[in-house]
Amino acid sequence: MASELELEMQAIDRSLLECSAEEIAGKWLQATDLTREVYQHLAHYVPKIYCRSPNPCPQKEDMVAQHVLLAPMEWYLCGEDSEFGFPKLQQANKPSHLCGRVFKVGEPTYSCRDCAVDPTCVLCMDCFLGSIHRDHRYRMTTSGGGGFCDCGDTEAWKEGPYCQKHELNTPEIEEEEDPLVHLSEDVIARSYNIFTIMFQYAVEILTWEKESELPADLEMVEKSDTYYCMLFNDEVHTYEQVIYTLQKAVNCTQKEAIGFATTVDRDGRRSVRCGDFQYCEQAKSIIVRNTSSRQTKPLKVQVMHSSLVAHQSFGLKVLSWLGSVIGYSDGLRRILCQVGLQEGPDGENSSLVDRLMLSDSKLWKGARSVYHQLFMSSLLMDLKYKKLFAVRFAKNYQQLQRDFMEDDHERAVSVTALSVQFFTAPTLARMLITEENLMTIIIKTFMDHLRHRDTQGRFQFERYTALQAFKFRRVQSLILDLKYVLISKPTEWSDDLREKFLEGFDAFLELLKCMQGMDPITRQVGQHIEMEPEWEAAFTLQMKLTHVISMMQDWCALDEKVLIEAYKKCLTVLMQCHGGFTDGEQPITLSICGHSVETIRYCVSQEKVSIHLPVSRLLAGLHVLLSKSEVAYKFPELLPLSELSPPMLIEHPLRCLVLCAQVHAGMWRRNGFSLVNQIYYYHNVKCRREMFDKDIVMLQTGVSMMDPNHFLMIMLSRFELYQIFSTPDYGKRFSSEITHKDVVQQNNTLIEEMLYLIIMLVGERFSPGVGQVNATDDIKREIIHQLSIKPMAHSELVKSLPEDENKETGMESVIEAVAHFKKPGLTGRGMYELKPECAKEFNLYFYHFSRAEQSKAEEAQRKLKRQNREDTALPPPVLPPFCPLFASLVNILQSDVMLCIMRTILQWAVEHNGYAWSESMLQRVLHLIGMALQEEKQHLENVTEEHVVTFTFTQKISKPGEAPNNSPSILAMLETLQNAPYLEVHKDMIRWILKTFNAIKKLRESSSPSPVAETEGTIMEESSRDKDKAERKRKAEIARLRREKIMAQMSEMQRHFIDENKELFQQTLELDASASAVLDNSPVVSDKTLTALGPAQTQVPEQRQFVTCILCQEEQEVKVESKAMVLAAFVQRSTVLSKDRSKFIQDPEKYDPLFMHPDLSCGTHTGSCGHIMHAHCWQRYFDSVQAKEQRRQQRLRLHTSYDVENGEFLCPLCECLSNTVIPLLLPPRKIFNRLNFSDQPNLTQWIRTISQQIKALQALGKEEGTPHTTSSKNSENMDEFQLPEGFRPDFRPKNPYSESIKEMLKTFGTATYKVGLKLHPNEEDPRVPVMCWGSCAYTIQSLERILSDEDKPLFGPLPCRLDDCLRSLTRFAAAHWTVASLSVVQGHFCKLFASLVPDDNHGDLPCILDIDMFHLLVGLVLAFPALQCQDFSGTSLGTGDLHIFRLVTMAHIIQLLLTSCTVIPYLSEENGMDEESPAGEEESAVLALYKTLQQCTGSALKEVPPGWHLWRNVRAGILPFLKCSALFFHYLNGVPSPPEMQVSGASHFEHLCNYLSLPSNLVSLFQENNEITKSLIESWCHNIEVKRYLEGERDAISYPRESNKLIDLPEDYSSLINQASNFSCPKSGGDKSRAPTLCLVCGTLLCSQSYCCQTELEGEDVGACTAHTYSCGSGVGIFLRVRECQVLFLAGKTKGCFYSPPYLDDYGETDQGLRRGNPLHLCQERFKKIQKLWQQHSVTEEIGHAQEANQTLVGIDWQHL
Ligand SMILES: [Zn+2]
Ligand SMILES: [Zn+2]
Ligand SMILES: [Zn+2]
Ligand SMILES: [Zn+2]
Ligand SMILES: [Zn+2]
Ligand SMILES: [Zn+2]
Ligand SMILES: [Zn+2]
Repeated sequence: MASELELEMQAIDRSLLECSAEEIAGKWLQATDLTREVYQHLAHYVPKIYCRSPNPCPQKEDMVAQHVLLAPMEWYLCGEDSEFGFPKLQQANKPSHLCGRVFKVGEPTYSCRDCAVDPTCVLCMDCFLGSIHRDHRYRMTTSGGGGFCDCGDTEAWKEGPYCQKHELNTPEIEEEEDPLVHLSEDVIARSYNIFTIMFQYAVEILTWEKESELPADLEMVEKSDTYYCMLFNDEVHTYEQVIYTLQKAVNCTQKEAIGFATTVDRDGRRSVRCGDFQYCEQAKSIIVRNTSSRQTKPLKVQVMHSSLVAHQSFGLKVLSWLGSVIGYSDGLRRILCQVGLQEGPDGENSSLVDRLMLSDSKLWKGARSVYHQLFMSSLLMDLKYKKLFAVRFAKNYQQLQRDFMEDDHERAVSVTALSVQFFTAPTLARMLITEENLMTIIIKTFMDHLRHRDTQGRFQFERYTALQAFKFRRVQSLILDLKYVLISKPTEWSDDLREKFLEGFDAFLELLKCMQGMDPITRQVGQHIEMEPEWEAAFTLQMKLTHVISMMQDWCALDEKVLIEAYKKCLTVLMQCHGGFTDGEQPITLSICGHSVETIRYCVSQEKVSIHLPVSRLLAGLHVLLSKSEVAYKFPELLPLSELSPPMLIEHPLRCLVLCAQVHAGMWRRNGFSLVNQIYYYHNVKCRREMFDKDIVMLQTGVSMMDPNHFLMIMLSRFELYQIFSTPDYGKRFSSEITHKDVVQQNNTLIEEMLYLIIMLVGERFSPGVGQVNATDDIKREIIHQLSIKPMAHSELVKSLPEDENKETGMESVIEAVAHFKKPGLTGRGMYELKPECAKEFNLYFYHFSRAEQSKAEEAQRKLKRQNREDTALPPPVLPPFCPLFASLVNILQSDVMLCIMRTILQWAVEHNGYAWSESMLQRVLHLIGMALQEEKQHLENVTEEHVVTFTFTQKISKPGEAPNNSPSILAMLETLQNAPYLEVHKDMIRWILKTFNAIKKLRESSSPSPVAETEGTIMEESSRDKDKAERKRKAEIARLRREKIMAQMSEMQRHFIDENKELFQQTLELDASASAVLDNSPVVSDKTLTALGPAQTQVPEQRQFVTCILCQEEQEVKVESKAMVLAAFVQRSTVLSKDRSKFIQDPEKYDPLFMHPDLSCGTHTGSCGHIMHAHCWQRYFDSVQAKEQRRQQRLRLHTSYDVENGEFLCPLCECLSNTVIPLLLPPRKIFNRLNFSDQPNLTQWIRTISQQIKALQALGKEEGTPHTTSSKNSENMDEFQLPEGFRPDFRPKNPYSESIKEMLKTFGTATYKVGLKLHPNEEDPRVPVMCWGSCAYTIQSLERILSDEDKPLFGPLPCRLDDCLRSLTRFAAAHWTVASLSVVQGHFCKLFASLVPDDNHGDLPCILDIDMFHLLVGLVLAFPALQCQDFSGTSLGTGDLHIFRLVTMAHIIQLLLTSCTVIPYLSEENGMDEESPAGEEESAVLALYKTLQQCTGSALKEVPPGWHLWRNVRAGILPFLKCSALFFHYLNGVPSPPEMQVSGASHFEHLCNYLSLPSNLVSLFQENNEITKSLIESWCHNIEVKRYLEGERDAISYPRESNKLIDLPEDYSSLINQASNFSCPKSGGDKSRAPTLCLVCGTLLCSQSYCCQTELEGEDVGACTAHTYSCGSGVGIFLRVRECQVLFLAGKTKGCFYSPPYLDDYGETDQGLRRGNPLHLCQERFKKIQKLWQQHSVTEEIGHAQEANQTLVGIDWQHL
């Protein structure tokens, strides 16, 4: 036990600890009144343990409670120490085969789409992984908390109910065994006693309502005056309100207030003040006063006596204790269930379980969840008691729902949420329906809560108050319950079930009746409506009920008796709804073509009409079921078919469809958006199944039962078109009424709509029961039509298809048959493409197309046909036959009125009268004619001997019209139209019609007189020969077309690519030009070895470089003395290469960046988009950006994606985020390389010279530093130093650059300093040049890493922007010293030099283990000119470079040898060994060097590894350094790279050495410079740090440094979810984090986007992610938001964006927000892409682009994530 706890223990009253569990339990065993004894014990001790201080300390309290209170009970229960007792119980137990794991918030849950009975059946991760379902189609979600694993519940799974683990526990005997047999009598009796007392106690105290009294038997003798002011949670007040109020009421800090508020939100209550009554009462009144307003109730606050709070705390503890005790034994569980459900003394509803449930809404959140959990682990885990509990739940259902309605907490913390546990279990649900009449209860309860009705008794949501609206939302959960009850359909029906189901059906009809005709609307004329009427509530109701309505029908379909009864009931109710349907009105008579019919006078445009017709629609659904199940033919006598009045059936659905047509025709414009929205939802995929679709079915039903002529006339009348078609010369009449153009337009649209409706009535026969199809035909057809529009991703398709109650569309079972899947690339998604052979099933007038979809589909299909060189007609597809009940429907096509309509419209088209007709009208008529022809053809083809084909459309259209018009026949008109010039588009279709007409004529002729077989045979033969020929021709044609198509595609793609990458192209074009210019001027020296540095450096002739300014388009040469040209650049701090993320710059004021540590922990990276501007053009541009930004900020306080105040701007050409500019320069060394003697000092001499010069400088410096120095004295002293020959420290070189270049040198230098150190800009700071060199070195290093990681050649083709950036950066860094103080740069050089060649003046320099050698090299080389410019002895700059380079290389080799001893020797078999085995020379050289090293270190290096191993280590370790150096000198001196190194291949070690002027046996450097080598090595090794390292007292970086990668992610996304669900907030003690977020750089999990983990950063509150970026990524971060499956990029406090995650489902789609729940797997390529963005330092740039593209991203408070 922790010592801290022990101390606390001592502090607690000793008497508590003296309690002995055994003693107390012994007393209880003897007791006669056990309850009294136990209560006395509790009354005495509970207040002594709980609530001893103002703030709860649960850990301590629980520990003492365990010791004093629970241990005696455990002892009593077991009869011995529970330490022995419980394991015994556990051993004797036969554990349940149910898993029952209760889910934590955010825990992953799995449901099998193949085997789960319904989607609420879920498995925990462990069970899932051990189940058969992991290989099925499963769905993954994260739990919202509550609910448990259904593993082992045989009712929940069609297959595989057990996982491997729980399978073991299945009882061999099927029947349920009484778990009590495993317990001894004694234990049973005692546990029964103690459970009864404690459960009773807990319930009593938790439901206790008095605030300062206790139940009598718990009351204490002496009562303290300590009270708590208890604040309760509600869902009305916001976090901020509560925090604010608390600060006022109890005088706490904001932090404390946040703490209180967080606990209140989590646990439901928290004491906010402790003290005497008065003191607490005072706080209460302030809180109440501050939080009440006219609209809202105040926060709930109670002043409670401390002893009551104490007992309640213990009460909760008891409940969880009970839950854990029953975990030991199923027997104990059963006893507890028994205790809980035992009826109490007060009869009905008095059991403990009842009492808890019924006070649920009065309990606070924390108490609720504790007892819900207990119910779940007890009652719901015991199948026998689950049933009893379900009965209690059903009996209390109404009351519970009423309480829930009054309560304001979410449903998840209400006991009503347990319904899912019973209602979805099929046998339980069935039992509750038959025994408790559950269906009726639920529906009635629902109706009870929707009291608001209009005069006809229909629901009315119009003037809902906020409270009513709130209740309406809550009451919707009842529909969910109803859905649960219906979700599993009965396999067999008992009479009871039939009876109770039909009773429920009755109640349901009552409900629908209240909806039938609700929200009626009247067309607004004249004025626009003033207020949009409420419509959403009614549609919400409809939407929520959609599945229930479908399921009701599904149930009915399962039993013929039920179906017939339901049909009758539904019809009765419909007739009630239609009561007074024809009353009062005089019927009117319509007649056309000698047919006449009576109907009512009704105009949709003038009277009330409603979209809500659920009763009619239910009847339509049932009618289809009758048709499908053939009940109608088997028992026609049972059906009330004679009662059906077809005109009545069709009336309301027809009105609704006419309404849609009129809205479309623009007649309802003044009714506002609410109507538009209603029409939208009426057709929408979420509603249409039980709205629009059913209205079509109802019309189909009606038409099939009546004379089609009558139907058409009624329809014409409802469309208000009757006059037009009954008046023969409508067209002529119209030309005289030309002024009413609008009316003509309107009528045209209405005619189009009506024709469309007829097309749908005849053509929509894909629901089983209407047509002879099965369910898969239906879904196939939907998919075909969706894909006819365009190829679609899986999720898009799913969204366009209706989901059933199990969230299934049935798509997967058929998709393969109709579509090909195309895998996704690096971006984008996987796509389904329609198979070409399915195109013939395309129906242009598919009823689920929206207008936009229809025209897109038409276009796509025509295009396809053109591509295939077919005619572009889109004839109607061949349709399946109707079911017998609907068979007569087809006659509508050949009815007289229909023919009249067709003829009239064709006549208009022939006459070509300007206004009176439209092309789409004609198109529809053509389509209808086509449908009729297809129909007739089908009939003829399927005709059997004895039947006569009664469908004679072809004959009818061949006949001319009757008197008085004597119009030509339809056929004749078509032939006329075929040649009409104005109908070009429809020609193909007319041609198709005429062709088909002829084919049918042939078919008729051949079939009627002579035997069919013969003629057909010859035709077949003939045609097959023809076909053969045709086929060959067709194939050749196809091949040609394919070639053409490919060519077209390619050019299309290219064009597209250029469009998309415009900037890129522009960029490459420009830079190609500049690059080629450089290449042209560069000398051809390929046959000579190229050398990048030193006296032997390859001489590159003067290169002239011309560039164009992107702003003013002027061309200019880059010259020393001309105006500066600059590159837009972005400087940022970086930790990408860091080997130690715990390090960051603590105090930038004092930080010294001169020496970079080899862990590369704080780097500065420079990047550029490569766009060139004049310095002055840029300056002007930046000033204007700044001014604009200032104006903008004043006007609207908007943010931009860039921070102008920090110098940020967007590149004017590519909008790339930039924060400074780099000047463009010529190779700067040339300018200073004045002297070049052939006789140059060797390394030893050179070091000596330099050392002397340094000494001289230092002496001078000291002199200058001392006061009273005069120049004369100075010169005197000079002599004393004996200035080295040719050294002139008083010489000041002239700066060769133009003013503008000098200014830009300063600008960029200052920017690097400012960003790199996060300091205010200060040109004079001596660290400025160091930061410039550092950024140059760091940027080169990071490029080298990227190239190596990708196995790219060092000098391969680089993107121009990168190449330009590095060149400019290097040259800039080399030129920067000219604008810095000479003495400062000299000082840096001296210090850097001293780290390798020690002198007396620099004592505490880092040892060579702690220096990054490349940074050192860059620093030395670039600082050297400052010294060299005063050296007139004849030593060239190049010589110095070479010697510096060699010296650093030697130091690096020593560094490598020192650190390599920790590396385990490679096995010699390792590949590459043979071809690159070292020559003996190198091996012996390195061995010799190693021995020297051994001597110098005082034999701290003990073993001598084999020479080849050492050499390998050196080579491998030094390679990155050499590569970086090669890049550096290449850009510095402009020497072209050796062609060998421009291509990848084996390591170019030797080429590298040649290029760098090094011997390829590197160790020979030491031998050549023998004189100085030994002393240097000695000086390096004698450093104290090196010694400590060798003695193992410290670490050092070893080489080669591995590249940093993002963390490894698991293949299966669910393991991440699981990991995150186990993660709790590090700050609020074990709470689950709401937005667990993973840092992809270091793998830390953070509690993001939450108050608890906000910290202060630079004076601002920031979330955990932002805070983390500052330590982990220098402000830049890459995260994965685990719950959302979303990648988050952050940069600084204001920049961020979301990025597509690297996880894809099987359909190649990401699932941001985890909404679909398909299994997700890691896509390595996409993850690599993210990693590359990071390695290339492009994250900030990416954010900038994302924010520019999507302005809403700018407004997000990224810093709070
Ligand atoms: Zn489980
Ligand atoms: Zn299991
Ligand atoms: Zn399965
Ligand atoms: Zn310019
Ligand atoms: Zn740019
Ligand atoms: Zn991190
Ligand atoms: Zn937190």
